[in-house]
Amino acid sequence: MELFKEQQIKIYNSLTSKKETFKPITEGYIGMYVCGPTVYSNVHLGNVRTFMSFDVIFRYLKHLGYKVRYVRNITDAGHLENDSDAGEDKITKKARLEQIEPMEVVQRYTVDFHDVLKTFNFSPPSIEPTATGHIIEQIELIETIIKNGFAYEVNGSVYFDVHKFDKTNNYGILSKRKLEDLIHNTRELDGQSDKKNPQDFALWKKAEPQHIMRWPSPWSDGFPGWHLECTAMSTKYLGEQFDIHGGGMDLKFPHHECEIAQNQAAKGKSPVNYWMHANMLELNGQRMSKSTGNTVNPDELLSGNNNFFSKAYAPSVIRFFIAQSSYRSILDLTDDGLLASEKGFYRLMEAIDNLETLKASEVSTIDINAWKQKSYDAMNDDFNSPILIANLFEAAKYINQIKEGIATLSSNDLTTLKSSIHAFVFDILGLQNESKSNSDSDKLAGAVDILIKLRQEARVNKDFALSDKIRDELAEVSIHLKDSRDGTTFSTN
Ligand SMILES: [Zn+2]
Repeated sequence: MELFKEQQIKIYNSLTSKKETFKPITEGYIGMYVCGPTVYSNVHLGNVRTFMSFDVIFRYLKHLGYKVRYVRNITDAGHLENDSDAGEDKITKKARLEQIEPMEVVQRYTVDFHDVLKTFNFSPPSIEPTATGHIIEQIELIETIIKNGFAYEVNGSVYFDVHKFDKTNNYGILSKRKLEDLIHNTRELDGQSDKKNPQDFALWKKAEPQHIMRWPSPWSDGFPGWHLECTAMSTKYLGEQFDIHGGGMDLKFPHHECEIAQNQAAKGKSPVNYWMHANMLELNGQRMSKSTGNTVNPDELLSGNNNFFSKAYAPSVIRFFIAQSSYRSILDLTDDGLLASEKGFYRLMEAIDNLETLKASEVSTIDINAWKQKSYDAMNDDFNSPILIANLFEAAKYINQIKEGIATLSSNDLTTLKSSIHAFVFDILGLQNESKSNSDSDKLAGAVDILIKLRQEARVNKDFALSDKIRDELAEVSIHLKDSRDGTTFSTN
């Protein structure tokens, strides 16, 4: 029997602001869409946190036996500077500043994004569609919205009529905003806009003559609005209604609100049953921001090359740190926090190494099945990974007790413990056993130490030809030996 039949998940639904019992539209199958990156700069850590949260969710749903179609898009056109529909396209701007083709920008940062995800051991989504690959679908969607009377064309651009939509629907249903408050709080634009009302948003923008990324359409040579691509691609691959839509908290309004409005206007249906939002990542108690300098990127965190942290951290340590708080809480990235997670992570890995050496006994003095169900209960409760990790530390305690002979497990229970720990730690949390003694740099240091000792022996035996050969051949592979009074050390650059 599939695990999902016995493990009932509850999901905090941003649409209803409640934890709800999860029921997929089709039993055994889940459609999940997560808004992906706009590929105009290196992926930042806040995004890593969001995508990691949904990676753990994806992994858990698959573990339960669901067939999950996970769609995460790449925004490679149409995302304007100020996130609404004014200003320059982010990708075009970067291309202009660097004097390269927009598609070169897209390629460079898509590769960077995938490299980072691989480093952190993310499972790839089932489909990773791009906005530029779905222009036809977006044009068709606009035509339907116009036909249904919820959009209008002005000077080659098409806008969604928020005021008209709100008369028969609820604009603000997700973000709990009211149109009249939005009207009240909107600054008048500078009068250049073609929109009927400032709250309307662009479905299609006519391209300025210098705009390189443009496609023909019934209205003008132009490009689609940012919100539209997610509606076009999510419904193309998951249907007009699907189970889960996720993204960062900052996308709730206007991006996700507009997605709901577009789908409602085009198909007369609310597209998503469960909306999920991952909260923000802060750095030392403050919002990460390039302009204030309070920011660190994944590479800098992994290499230790930054002004915020005392050392480099392994990818699994960072994954572990992120999983130690709920995806719905604001997470504060600090050196103390990472050091504590690192200690905890290696303690857990040591316990897993010890687990392999445990011997079974006749009887069990620990109720392993109760522990296992408690761990599922944690994940079933809106993917509460911090509680799961607390349970894993409890299991680490059991392992030590069994090793010391204070507790015992039967052969069956020992097998259950092993398979559950492997499932939770490696399959679901996506951690990798980077025990200190297993890391590549430690292995390299061990191997070079052996060569340094051999060279020392050669020198004692006055075999200087061999001693020089060891030094020179190591130098050829960029390992440089340095002799001093205190002995020989090496560097790798
Ligand atoms: Zn989106």
